[in-house]
Amino acid sequence: METITWNQHLVKKNNKALVLQLIMHREPISRADIAQISGLHKATVSSLVNELLEEELIYESGPGESSGGRRPVILHFNKVAGYAIGIDIGANYVLSVLTDLKGNIVLENNHTVTQTPYPTIMNLVKSMIQSLMTNMPQSRYGVVGIGVGVPGIVNKEGTVLLAPNLGWKNSNLKQDLEELFEVPVIVENEANAGAFCEQKFGAGKDYENMVYISAGIGIGVGIFLNRELYQGKNGFSGEMGHMIIDMNGKPCNCGSQGCWEAYASEHALLEQAGSSIEAVLELAKNQDQTAQGLFKEVGKYLGIGINNIINTFNPDQVIIGNRLALAREWIEEPIKTTIENYTLTHHQTELQLDFSKLEQYSTVLGVSAFAVENFIKEDSKVL
Ligand SMILES: [Zn+2]
Repeated sequence: METITWNQHLVKKNNKALVLQLIMHREPISRADIAQISGLHKATVSSLVNELLEEELIYESGPGESSGGRRPVILHFNKVAGYAIGIDIGANYVLSVLTDLKGNIVLENNHTVTQTPYPTIMNLVKSMIQSLMTNMPQSRYGVVGIGVGVPGIVNKEGTVLLAPNLGWKNSNLKQDLEELFEVPVIVENEANAGAFCEQKFGAGKDYENMVYISAGIGIGVGIFLNRELYQGKNGFSGEMGHMIIDMNGKPCNCGSQGCWEAYASEHALLEQAGSSIEAVLELAKNQDQTAQGLFKEVGKYLGIGINNIINTFNPDQVIIGNRLALAREWIEEPIKTTIENYTLTHHQTELQLDFSKLEQYSTVLGVSAFAVENFIKEDSKVL
């Protein structure tokens, strides 16, 4: 039974968002093509297009291709009508970017951090956002939204319930940032944001069932099933870094023991290496056998967890992203060998293993894309 009451305002708002999305994704495009693809009346399209032109979210350019008859004026999305901010809070870094409305990075800033108490990180995030805002080009709408990715469990109100690798519990991140900057803020689990980004811009574009593995200090997993992000009942899905691979194993920051991320993460690597991943990469590039061996060991453990994931979901693609993707040269082969040796044979056919091409940018670009989507769909200033 249909229980939603559709008032006229809502219908118009949705139609306008639809027209804007079509222009955004299929530009250059004519009014006639929009009417044909959307199924809306030509007159409706015309009036919505006029509103969008007035709001400077789109612009027109001279006659386009014609299939005979009058040559149509074509429409473009105005990607610099405003900007979005993306922040990725890691356990040992904070990365911030300013993007245009199509996800192109305009400004970026990366800070290494050694301490992660909530107030310390909030101060840093605040100054990074201020710096992006100060250096942002002029535009009609300014900052349309801020997206933040965190390695932890985030509820629908944007509260970080638990982030073991940051040491955070019940931190009201969304509320605190909205009070400071008075723009809409979206807080997301970093692996979900990374998966969304890979599906939208990256290696995952052509796959229906994709699992994105964010291998940083911890491990998070974003799951796309039938092209939709699977979030579970409360948005808490994908905490596979805490799947137990050794019931008598190493203690984990989550309070349990033998978790996958205790063996297969950047943290596990650094525990052995005693330095930074950049330093280990440098050594490995210079043929240092110990450094290469450390990556191979981490790769083997990554493969063990990926085996469990493949056997569970039967995905058509697995993407490995975040900082360990930088070590592809040494971890790819042990991951593949582990899958070949352990994963159920039927699950290995038609399986694609890829590394993120966006590397450390998956999460920031994912959360800034969430902020843009939210602006286009919901913002009352626009629709
Ligand atoms: Zn754990």
